[in-house]
Amino acid sequence: MDYYGEKIGSLIEELASLPGIGIKSAQRLAFHIVNMPKEKAHALAAAITDARDNVHYCRECYTLTDRDICPICANDKRNHRQIMVVENVRDLAAYEKTGEYEGVYHVLHGAISPMLGIGPEDIKLKELMQRLQSEVDEVIIATNSGLEGETTAMYISRLIKPTGIKVTRIASGIPVGGDLENTDEVTLKRALDARTEI
Ligand code: ZN
Repeated sequence: MDYYGEKIGSLIEELASLPGIGIKSAQRLAFHIVNMPKEKAHALAAAITDARDNVHYCRECYTLTDRDICPICANDKRNHRQIMVVENVRDLAAYEKTGEYEGVYHVLHGAISPMLGIGPEDIKLKELMQRLQSEVDEVIIATNSGLEGETTAMYISRLIKPTGIKVTRIASGIPVGGDLENTDEVTLKRALDARTEI
Protein backbone atom coordinates (compact mmCIF):
# COMPACT_ATOMS: atom_id res chain seq x y z
CA MET A 1 0.00 0.00 0.00
CA ASP A 2 2.99 2.29 0.44
CA TYR A 3 3.22 3.84 -3.00
CA TYR A 4 3.92 7.36 -1.88
CA GLY A 5 6.37 7.15 0.97
CA GLU A 6 5.73 7.54 4.65
CA LYS A 7 4.62 11.15 4.88
CA ILE A 8 1.69 10.96 2.50
CA GLY A 9 0.88 7.52 3.85
CA SER A 10 0.55 8.77 7.40
CA LEU A 11 -1.50 11.80 6.30
CA ILE A 12 -3.90 9.45 4.49
CA GLU A 13 -4.03 7.22 7.54
CA GLU A 14 -4.87 10.13 9.88
CA LEU A 15 -7.57 11.46 7.55
CA ALA A 16 -9.07 8.00 7.08
CA SER A 17 -9.48 7.69 10.85
CA LEU A 18 -12.02 10.54 10.80
CA PRO A 19 -15.72 9.64 10.86
CA GLY A 20 -17.30 9.33 7.42
CA ILE A 21 -13.97 9.46 5.58
CA GLY A 22 -13.14 6.30 3.70
CA ILE A 23 -9.74 5.49 2.29
CA LYS A 24 -10.59 6.96 -1.12
CA SER A 25 -11.74 10.28 0.31
CA ALA A 26 -8.69 10.30 2.57
CA GLN A 27 -6.44 9.90 -0.46
CA ARG A 28 -8.26 12.65 -2.34
CA LEU A 29 -7.98 15.02 0.65
CA ALA A 30 -4.32 14.16 1.24
CA PHE A 31 -3.41 14.96 -2.36
CA HIS A 32 -5.45 18.13 -2.18
CA ILE A 33 -3.63 19.20 1.00
CA VAL A 34 -0.13 18.56 -0.33
CA ASN A 35 -0.98 20.59 -3.43
CA MET A 36 -2.36 23.53 -1.44
CA PRO A 37 -0.34 26.75 -1.12
CA LYS A 38 1.83 26.29 1.99
CA GLU A 39 0.13 29.11 3.92
CA LYS A 40 -3.29 27.50 3.39
CA ALA A 41 -2.10 24.11 4.60
CA HIS A 42 -0.47 25.71 7.64
CA ALA A 43 -3.66 27.65 8.40
CA LEU A 44 -5.66 24.41 8.27
CA ALA A 45 -3.25 22.66 10.62
CA ALA A 46 -3.24 25.67 12.96
CA ALA A 47 -7.05 25.82 13.02
CA ILE A 48 -7.20 22.15 14.02
CA THR A 49 -4.62 22.61 16.80
CA ASP A 50 -6.18 25.83 18.00
CA ALA A 51 -9.72 24.40 18.13
CA ARG A 52 -8.56 21.24 19.86
CA ASP A 53 -6.55 23.15 22.45
CA ASN A 54 -9.06 25.87 23.22
CA VAL A 55 -12.53 24.42 22.80
CA HIS A 56 -14.20 22.95 25.87
CA TYR A 57 -17.66 22.57 27.37
CA CYS A 58 -19.67 25.65 28.31
CA ARG A 59 -19.85 25.79 32.10
CA GLU A 60 -23.66 26.06 32.00
CA CYS A 61 -25.06 24.14 29.03
CA TYR A 62 -22.13 21.88 28.06
CA THR A 63 -22.09 22.87 24.43
CA LEU A 64 -18.67 23.33 22.87
CA THR A 65 -17.20 26.81 23.07
CA ASP A 66 -13.86 28.56 23.41
CA ARG A 67 -15.28 30.81 26.13
CA ASP A 68 -16.06 30.08 29.74
CA ILE A 69 -19.78 30.57 29.06
CA CYS A 70 -21.05 30.10 25.49
CA PRO A 71 -22.63 33.03 23.59
CA ILE A 72 -26.14 31.54 24.01
CA CYS A 73 -25.85 31.22 27.80
CA ALA A 74 -24.19 34.64 28.00
CA ASN A 75 -27.07 36.29 26.13
CA ASP A 76 -29.38 38.17 28.52
CA LYS A 77 -32.12 38.34 25.89
CA ARG A 78 -32.57 34.56 25.93
CA ASN A 79 -35.06 33.02 28.33
CA HIS A 80 -32.90 31.29 30.93
CA ARG A 81 -35.94 29.72 32.58
CA GLN A 82 -36.62 27.54 29.54
CA ILE A 83 -34.10 24.77 28.90
CA MET A 84 -34.13 22.57 25.79
CA VAL A 85 -32.36 19.26 26.32
CA VAL A 86 -30.58 17.91 23.22
CA GLU A 87 -28.36 14.90 22.65
CA ASN A 88 -25.46 16.67 20.99
CA VAL A 89 -24.05 19.94 19.73
CA ARG A 90 -25.25 19.27 16.16
CA ASP A 91 -28.86 19.08 17.39
CA LEU A 92 -28.40 22.38 19.21
CA ALA A 93 -27.12 23.89 15.95
CA ALA A 94 -30.14 22.50 14.08
CA TYR A 95 -32.55 24.23 16.50
CA GLU A 96 -30.52 27.46 16.51
CA LYS A 97 -30.78 27.57 12.74
CA THR A 98 -34.57 27.80 12.95
CA GLY A 99 -34.07 31.15 14.73
CA GLU A 100 -37.33 30.49 16.58
CA TYR A 101 -36.17 29.24 19.92
CA GLU A 102 -35.44 31.86 22.55
CA GLY A 103 -34.61 29.73 25.55
CA VAL A 104 -31.30 28.10 26.43
CA TYR A 105 -30.02 24.53 25.97
CA HIS A 106 -28.55 21.62 27.81
CA VAL A 107 -26.34 19.24 25.83
CA LEU A 108 -26.34 15.67 27.12
CA HIS A 109 -23.52 14.41 24.90
CA GLY A 110 -25.26 11.13 24.20
CA ALA A 111 -28.41 9.20 24.99
CA ILE A 112 -29.16 6.33 27.33
CA SER A 113 -28.62 3.02 25.54
CA PRO A 114 -28.72 -0.21 27.49
CA MET A 115 -27.64 -1.99 24.29
CA LEU A 116 -24.44 0.04 24.03
CA GLY A 117 -23.94 0.06 27.78
CA ILE A 118 -24.52 3.81 28.05
CA GLY A 119 -26.26 4.60 31.32
CA PRO A 120 -27.64 7.82 32.83
CA GLU A 121 -24.31 8.48 34.54
CA ASP A 122 -22.51 8.50 31.18
CA ILE A 123 -24.34 11.57 29.88
CA LYS A 124 -24.64 15.10 31.33
CA LEU A 125 -27.75 14.34 33.40
CA LYS A 126 -26.39 15.10 36.84
CA GLU A 127 -25.35 18.46 35.44
CA LEU A 128 -28.90 19.07 34.16
CA MET A 129 -30.39 18.29 37.56
CA GLN A 130 -27.93 20.72 39.14
CA ARG A 131 -29.08 23.46 36.79
CA LEU A 132 -32.66 22.88 37.82
CA GLN A 133 -31.81 24.08 41.33
CA SER A 134 -32.09 27.61 39.97
CA GLU A 135 -35.34 29.13 38.69
CA VAL A 136 -36.58 27.09 35.71
CA ASP A 137 -40.11 27.14 34.26
CA GLU A 138 -39.87 24.46 31.60
CA VAL A 139 -37.60 21.69 30.38
CA ILE A 140 -38.20 20.83 26.72
CA ILE A 141 -36.89 17.38 25.88
CA ALA A 142 -35.65 17.38 22.29
CA THR A 143 -33.81 14.08 22.18
CA ASN A 144 -34.08 12.13 18.92
CA SER A 145 -37.15 10.03 18.22
CA GLY A 146 -35.37 6.66 18.06
CA LEU A 147 -35.40 4.10 20.86
CA GLU A 148 -32.47 5.67 22.71
CA GLY A 149 -33.88 9.18 22.45
CA GLU A 150 -37.26 8.02 23.77
CA THR A 151 -35.69 6.04 26.60
CA THR A 152 -33.68 9.11 27.57
CA ALA A 153 -36.77 11.36 27.38
CA MET A 154 -38.78 9.08 29.66
CA TYR A 155 -35.91 8.80 32.11
CA ILE A 156 -35.42 12.57 32.31
CA SER A 157 -39.13 13.17 32.64
CA ARG A 158 -39.37 10.80 35.59
CA LEU A 159 -36.36 12.43 37.19
CA ILE A 160 -37.73 15.95 36.88
CA LYS A 161 -41.41 15.31 37.70
CA PRO A 162 -40.96 15.40 41.49
CA THR A 163 -39.43 18.89 41.24
CA GLY A 164 -42.71 20.28 39.88
CA ILE A 165 -40.97 21.83 36.87
CA LYS A 166 -42.99 21.54 33.64
CA VAL A 167 -41.53 18.91 31.30
CA THR A 168 -42.46 18.86 27.62
CA ARG A 169 -41.45 16.68 24.69
CA ILE A 170 -41.16 18.01 21.14
CA ALA A 171 -43.84 16.61 18.83
CA SER A 172 -43.03 13.68 16.61
CA GLY A 173 -43.12 15.52 13.29
CA ILE A 174 -39.62 14.17 13.12
CA PRO A 175 -39.57 10.77 11.45
CA VAL A 176 -39.17 7.90 13.89
CA GLY A 177 -35.50 7.06 14.16
CA GLY A 178 -34.68 10.32 12.39
CA ASP A 179 -31.94 12.61 13.62
CA LEU A 180 -32.70 16.20 14.52
CA GLU A 181 -29.63 17.37 12.68
CA ASN A 182 -30.98 15.98 9.40
CA THR A 183 -34.47 17.43 9.84
CA ASP A 184 -35.49 20.57 7.99
CA GLU A 185 -36.10 23.80 9.88
CA VAL A 186 -39.87 23.97 9.26
CA THR A 187 -40.35 20.49 10.74
CA LEU A 188 -38.15 21.36 13.71
CA LYS A 189 -40.13 24.52 14.39
CA ARG A 190 -43.43 22.64 14.07
CA ALA A 191 -42.20 19.94 16.45
CA LEU A 192 -41.27 22.61 18.99
CA ASP A 193 -44.56 24.48 18.69
CA ALA A 194 -46.58 21.27 19.07
CA ARG A 195 -44.67 20.02 22.10
CA THR A 196 -46.75 18.36 24.76
CA GLU A 197 -46.41 17.99 28.48
CA ILE A 198 -45.20 14.56 29.61
ZN1 ZN B 1 -23.81 27.49 27.23
